[in-house]
Amino acid sequence: MTELAGNIRGSTRQLVCSPVKRLINRIDPPVIVLLYHRVTTLPSDPELLAVSPANFREQMQYLKDTFPIVRFEEDWSGIANPAVCVTFDDGYADNALEALPILEEVGVPATFFVSTGRIGSRSEFWWHELERIILETESLPPSFTLADDRFGRSWPTGLPGERRAFYQGIVRLMNDVDAGQRTDWLAQLRRWAQTGEGVTDRHRAMTVDELHLLAASSRVTIGAHTVTHTRLSSLSQAVQREEISASKRELEGWLGREISTFSYPFGRRSDYTQESIALCRQAGFSKSAANFPGQAHRWTDPYQIPRNLVRNWPLEIFTGKLRGFWTR
Ligand SMILES: [Zn+2]
Repeated sequence: MTELAGNIRGSTRQLVCSPVKRLINRIDPPVIVLLYHRVTTLPSDPELLAVSPANFREQMQYLKDTFPIVRFEEDWSGIANPAVCVTFDDGYADNALEALPILEEVGVPATFFVSTGRIGSRSEFWWHELERIILETESLPPSFTLADDRFGRSWPTGLPGERRAFYQGIVRLMNDVDAGQRTDWLAQLRRWAQTGEGVTDRHRAMTVDELHLLAASSRVTIGAHTVTHTRLSSLSQAVQREEISASKRELEGWLGREISTFSYPFGRRSDYTQESIALCRQAGFSKSAANFPGQAHRWTDPYQIPRNLVRNWPLEIFTGKLRGFWTR
């Protein structure tokens, strides 16, 4: 998952053609790393995470026909031409069920960074549970008061606009707290809305069998993405270490192979710290992916590789955005 406000700003940013970047790209051909989350069709998608299977197939076919496609874990220092790399974050079931068949059919390799805490649980990621409780429950009380020593406050929830503002406000707050606090807040919300724990199949993470199915493809690399998908910069060093190394350990236990790459939850520069980078190195990762736009060059920090978010764009928009990714 990415940060909501950042997504909106990023997707509407004016792309400015930079002659300097064009020159740099000629001197050192870059890799453009693309960031996806989901390939599926959803009735509503407030976080803009899903690309439809039809758009994804066209995007992959265009990449395959137009650029060399490299794998995330490879050494890119010797590439002769600008290249692209396809990555996914989080570990949704649709990665195995809807994205994988298209990648196989078109012949495109991809790396899937998987957050391990939800694998096999058949429950939703926390941002989808918020969506379901706040935006999709038919009738709710007129206001919600969050009981919390530091973040406690009230929101009106009677009108659709108030519900949307509440959803966006509490997503932002939840980005800044640890998994224990989130669990407590979600329990408060469930009690308030008189609803049970998330059971929507639509937003679930992969089962262990689906993870095996995905990892069995010769096109696929699996990377780690923490256990609980918490903003690393909000955690102590000890908890960061556990989040980073336990996700590697769990994936290696399931798959019986070394996991050598990682991506930071949310991934903006403010979402991780120099400690996070050092901990990734110590855990044995050779590369880590961030989530801010840019190109990966020979001199790019391998533990802060920029990635460019892809939305549910039809081909003509995708090709235009892609042109912008080489210079932004
Ligand atoms: Zn994520």
